[in-house]
Amino acid sequence: DAVLTLKGIEKTYNIGKPNAVQVLHGVDLTLQRGEIVGLIAPSGSGKSTLLHIAGLLDRFDAGEMMISGQPVAGLKDRARTQVRRDRVGFVYQFHHLLPEFSALENIVLPQRAAGVSDAAAKARALDLLSSVGLAARASHRPAELSGGEAQRVAVCRALANAPDLLLADEPTGNLDPGTSDQVFDMLMALVRDTGLSALIATHNIELAHRMDRVMRLDAGRIVPA
Ligand code: ADP
Ligand code: ADP
Repeated sequence: DAVLTLKGIEKTYNIGKPNAVQVLHGVDLTLQRGEIVGLIAPSGSGKSTLLHIAGLLDRFDAGEMMISGQPVAGLKDRARTQVRRDRVGFVYQFHHLLPEFSALENIVLPQRAAGVSDAAAKARALDLLSSVGLAARASHRPAELSGGEAQRVAVCRALANAPDLLLADEPTGNLDPGTSDQVFDMLMALVRDTGLSALIATHNIELAHRMDRVMRLDAGRIVPA
């Protein structure tokens, strides 16, 4: 029961031009339901490119990709947006919360975009905030939260629409080691609880080895770490 399947994925920027650069040379990767995979990828290796392709934010040139068994290559923009919104959650190194909205509202907004009623969206947002120990921070704006708290809210936002797949790019890379550990533990617990699959890019080898499996992006391909 694969949530994400990548087969022979290739990606070249500026394809056909003199400054073309091939970043992915045939990426093969399958994430089974509930599996948490660590991705070790040196800077410049194509990590962001890979995560953007996996999250349907960018297109690939060759290969096959499936989300929960559904091929995505032929989808038009509207359908891609829908798959992304309903099935994929993103966490970045920086929280990217909307500064003028409260923690609660930041978790409500993606649900509203998916057509969830306001009352249901608020209830779910509060549940998520409670699960990361932040119920008391619901009405705080991002500037009123610590770095670790803001990142916990960002994780809640990523899970707001109950995705099948969580894609995280250095989710604790901007935090001090103690806070990083805390946020990581919370992220792992939430992912385990909800049974979703996660691909988590990190430079932190110790954190990576707490996941189910660790892979490395090397010369445009995925190899065991
Ligand atoms: P990472 O996230 O591992 O640092 P990226 O996926 O951002 O790597 O980039 C991998 C390579 O692709 C780099 O050499 C980068 O310069 C190049 N690249 C990334 N985005 C573009 C783009 N939009 N146009 C051209 N080259 C790009
Ligand atoms: P860029 O693609 O040049 O980095 P964007 O404004 O497109 O800038 O996006 C800013 C960041 O937000 C990027 O990291 C991008 O991958 C991410 N992003 C864009 N659209 C979405 C989306 N619908 N869901 C999640 N992340 C997104």
